[in-house]
Amino acid sequence: MRFLLRATLGLLVLLATAAIAVVMSLPRDVPALPSGDPLPDAGRRAVGVLHVHSSYSDGAADVPAIARAAREAGLDFVVLSDHGDPDALSKEGEGYIDGVMLLVGSEISTEGGHVLALQIPDPVLRFGTEPGEVLRDIDEMKGFSLAAHPYARRPNFTWTGWRLPGLTGIELFNFFTGWSGQSAYRVGVAALVHPFSSRRGLAAGLEWDPQLVEKWDSILAERDLVAWAGLDAHGRVNLFGDVHLPWPSYRQVFQTARNHLVLDGPLVGDADRDRESIYRALERGQGYMSFDGIADGSRFSFFAQGGSREWPMGSHVPANLVDAGGIRLVASIQAPDGTRLRILRDGAILSETSHGTLSLGVEEPGVYRAEAHLDPIFVPGGREQPWIVSNPIFVLTEEQIERRAALKRDFPQPVSTAEMACQAVGNAPWRMAFHAEHDPASRMDEAAAESSRGSFRIDFRLSEPSDQRPYVWCSVGDRTPRDLSGFDAIRLQVWGKDVYRVSFQIRDARPGASEEDTEWWAGSFKSAPEWREIVIPFDSLRSISETSDGTLDLDRVRGLFFVLDAGNTRPGASGVIEIRDLELCASTP
Ligand SMILES: [Zn+2]
Ligand SMILES: [Zn+2]
Repeated sequence: MRFLLRATLGLLVLLATAAIAVVMSLPRDVPALPSGDPLPDAGRRAVGVLHVHSSYSDGAADVPAIARAAREAGLDFVVLSDHGDPDALSKEGEGYIDGVMLLVGSEISTEGGHVLALQIPDPVLRFGTEPGEVLRDIDEMKGFSLAAHPYARRPNFTWTGWRLPGLTGIELFNFFTGWSGQSAYRVGVAALVHPFSSRRGLAAGLEWDPQLVEKWDSILAERDLVAWAGLDAHGRVNLFGDVHLPWPSYRQVFQTARNHLVLDGPLVGDADRDRESIYRALERGQGYMSFDGIADGSRFSFFAQGGSREWPMGSHVPANLVDAGGIRLVASIQAPDGTRLRILRDGAILSETSHGTLSLGVEEPGVYRAEAHLDPIFVPGGREQPWIVSNPIFVLTEEQIERRAALKRDFPQPVSTAEMACQAVGNAPWRMAFHAEHDPASRMDEAAAESSRGSFRIDFRLSEPSDQRPYVWCSVGDRTPRDLSGFDAIRLQVWGKDVYRVSFQIRDARPGASEEDTEWWAGSFKSAPEWREIVIPFDSLRSISETSDGTLDLDRVRGLFFVLDAGNTRPGASGVIEIRDLELCASTP
């Protein structure tokens, strides 16, 4: 009995000590600030969050509920990015809901990490998995891209395509990654604190990855890369299997890490115009990120001034103005005592103050950005880290501006056939018997697909996959066994009523590899509403069969196919693609 009493007392003392330790380790609350001078760009601001999942993919709530949470959290905009293709949410759903602008992007999983595709339409073509190709597709749709959680801890989530053309920016912070990197102690503290203050509990995960910031600075030295805070908000956390904890809520997460945009003009309440203006600021990096879950960062500004002109964050300022009379950089913050404001050049501190305003003359070209640091007593764990991180203002020579513009769109050139000898399909011995093949529910104009000369039309309507018929396809193929071992590529001309992705397949003989005893080797190309020449080298084809023998046996070809299926085309879509002048090409020695 005595032992039990002692043990209980001991446990109570232990718990009390732990509670005191937790309370002692909590950051102090940031005092409320008197409303100061109006900001220089007041009226052109918008605050919002990026990277939110709804019930269209693995999020907990539907879009109206997310809009409500955003309104309660005081947001002007939310960028949804459900996994898969953006048509999950009809584009008519994009716009103002409950006074909050809902923008609909998509999160695409590639072999090089995850990409947020923003400002894209609802395309008929499906994105592939090769990161360079995905970025190019987004660019061709006049959209832009952000690498999501680039330093995620799961290897297949980590971004690898840092220097790929078409990459607009990154998530410099990702709430989900920020949390998954926290120690068990911090998670424990957050869980204990959360019932009393969800804001303080969640703030424990607000931590920059210094290596990622360093990486960003190193990339900025040579190319533009905007940075924003992403949330990866799901309105819940996955515990195991299909079991979820309905926490943290959307509203709670929406208050943690936010993006503050400086628009070209005020929001006007018209969905089309405001959508464009928010996207423009996001694409150009006009604004900054703030850990608003620690303290409200909306009273920060950073811009460049020269003569009568002013440039927001994200701007390219011509360096010749440095000599011509001077460019000043002006940063300011209204914040609690002890806040330090910094301007950095090329990642190194150039100037710092604790008086709220920095104004300095630019002496040389460089990448300039600003940071604000709160007194660590306000920061969870007493961490010395930025509270606010701005996008840069670039002061660049004319050559630097041109080089950066070129790098942005330095997409690989199509393979040239200048050094190849090509011969038309249709003449003996390469006469081919193309015809339509499709699943019973899909439709094709079969006469239009019939061809012996390598010119045909794919006039299709792809059906929706169902439980009984999971694989739907429309294809045009030739099943003549032949030896193509002298050839290295095919060349063709293509036109499409729209932009479609077409899979080109060569099937070689391999008993047991499929029902028809062939292994399938595939590559893809895209049509456009104008004629295009396409060259597909055979060594670029990759096996899509479940197992591969590793070699495309050109001497044992059993078929050539052009395929539309749910992997490359939106189910239910219809369209017309014309292919002309199919040729077989051989590299000349
Ligand atoms: Zn992701
Ligand atoms: Zn995500």
